[in-house]
Amino acid sequence: MSAGPLPTDCFIAGEWRGAEGGRRFDVTDPATGMPIETVADASPADGLAAVAAAHAALDAWSQVAPRQRAEVLRRAFELMTARGEELARLVVRENGKALTDARGEVTYAAEFFRWNSEEAVRNSGEFVTAPAGTNRILVLRQPIGVALLITPWNFPAAMLTRKIGPALAAGCTVVCKPARETPLTALAIAGILEAAGVPPGVVNVVPSARPGPLIDAAIADGRVHKLSFTGSTEVGRMLLAKASERILSCSMELGGNAPFIVFADADLDAAVAGAMVAKMRNGGEACTAANRFYVEEAVAAEFSRLLVAAMGAVRMGNGLDEGVGLGPLVNADTRDKVAGLVAGALDSGARALTGGVVPEGPGYFYPATVLDRVGPGSAILQEEIFGPVAPIVTFTSESEVIALANDSILGLVSYIYTGDLARGLRVAEALETGMVGLNRGLVSDPAAPFGGVKQSGLGREGGHEGMNEYLETKYVACSW
Ligand code: NAD
Repeated sequence: MSAGPLPTDCFIAGEWRGAEGGRRFDVTDPATGMPIETVADASPADGLAAVAAAHAALDAWSQVAPRQRAEVLRRAFELMTARGEELARLVVRENGKALTDARGEVTYAAEFFRWNSEEAVRNSGEFVTAPAGTNRILVLRQPIGVALLITPWNFPAAMLTRKIGPALAAGCTVVCKPARETPLTALAIAGILEAAGVPPGVVNVVPSARPGPLIDAAIADGRVHKLSFTGSTEVGRMLLAKASERILSCSMELGGNAPFIVFADADLDAAVAGAMVAKMRNGGEACTAANRFYVEEAVAAEFSRLLVAAMGAVRMGNGLDEGVGLGPLVNADTRDKVAGLVAGALDSGARALTGGVVPEGPGYFYPATVLDRVGPGSAILQEEIFGPVAPIVTFTSESEVIALANDSILGLVSYIYTGDLARGLRVAEALETGMVGLNRGLVSDPAAPFGGVKQSGLGREGGHEGMNEYLETKYVACSW
C-alpha cells in the first residue's frame, strides 16, 4: 500500500520544500552502486529554518494534552505498521540490508511510536514532605524544548523513531538530520507523522550531504535545547565538544565492540543460533553486533564448526531477493574497512575458516566470514568491524574472559552463553557494558533502556528512561 510519491524534499514547518539554491544529492543502491533518487541537500540556512519552525511550534505542542499526543503517536504506529512492507523495501533500497532484516527493523521502529504513546500519559513527578518537616518538595518534569536529532544509516527507521517517539511524548518538537546514505526512510517517516496528525513544525527533517556546517549552526542556536545523537564515537565526541559551548543537554548512542562469551557448559546449538543473530543482523552493521567471540577452549573446535556451517549457509545477494540473508554493506568505505581488518588479522596469523574474500562485481558485498587463531592484540578485536566477520579467540577461565571482554574503551553490550545461570548473572555484573544478553543474541526492545557505558554513550533510549531524556526536572519548594 502506497501513500503517494516518495518524499524527497526537506520537511519544514509542515511543508515539503527544496533546499536553498535547489541543491540536491544522490542516494545510492548499495547492491549496484547506482543512484536511485536525488534528495534535497539542506544548507545551514535550511537547518535554521527547521529550528525556527520547531521553536514556533513548541509552546502549542507542549500544551497539547498528553492523551492527545499519545493518540497521534498511536496513529503513527498504526500507519507505519500498515505501510510496513513498503517501508521495509525502501530501507533495503538505500541501506542494502536483507529484506527480512528490514522487515524486522520496521516492526521494531513502529513499536517506538506505540511504546511512547503509552509513556506519554505517564510523565510523573514527585511530592514529599521535606525531612525537616518545614515544607513540601514538589518535583515537576517539563519538556526540555527543541531537540536536534542526528541518526545513522544502519537502522534508518528505528534510530529515528527511537528519538522522535519519546521527544513527542514528552512535548518536545524536533529537527531531524538523517544520515546522508539513508534520507529516504526518514522522509517517508515524516510523511507518516504528517498523516498521523502531527501539527506543522513539530517534526522537521533536513537531509544534508554536508552535515557539519548545518549541525554546527543548529548547535550554536539558542533555540535548540537538546542534542540526541546516534552514530560513531568519533563524531559523537566532536559534537559533545561543540555542545559544551552552550552546555547543551546531550544524549549519545555511540559505537560498540561487543564481546560474545561462550562457556563450555553452554547449549552450543543455542549459542550458535544466538551468535548468528548477534553477528548477522543487518549483516553485522549494528552497534550491538558481536565483534569478538570468546569461546572456552574445551568447546572452541565444536563451536567453530557449528558457526562455520551456519555462516556458510547464509545466502548473499541483493537484499530485495527473497531467501537472501546477507545484503551488501552500505558503501565502498565500509566494505573496504572490513576487508582491511580481515587482511590485517590474516597477516598476523589468523585463519579464515569461511569467507574472507571480496567478491567480484558491482555492489559493496562482503561474505560471511569466520576467523580463528586471532591474536589478542589484533586490530579486528579493538575496532568496530561493522560487517559479517566473526573473529574467534579462546579462553580458559572466567576471570580471564572478564578481563579480555572489559579490555575496551567501548561498553555498549555483551553476550554470555552458559548453562549456569548463577555464573551468567555473576559475569553480567562484572562486564563493563550498559546491556547484557544472557543466553540471548538480541537485546533491543522498545520497553527496555538501551545504551552504553564508557565511550559507548550517555543516556538511554527506550524503557521509562527514554522519555526522561527529553524532560527537564524542576523542583518547587512549597510552604503553605
Ligand atoms: P557517523 O558518526 O558517521 O554518522 C552519524 C550521523 O552523524 C549521520 O547523520 C552523519 O551524517 C552525521 N555526521 C557525520 N559527520 C558529522 C559532522 N561532522 N557533524 C555533524 N554531523 C555529522 O556514524 P554512521 O557511520 O552513520 O553510523 C555507524 C555508527 O553508529 C557506528 O559506530 C555504530 O556503532 C553507531 N551506532 C550506535 C548505535 C547505538 O545505539 N549506540 C546505534 C546505531 C549505530
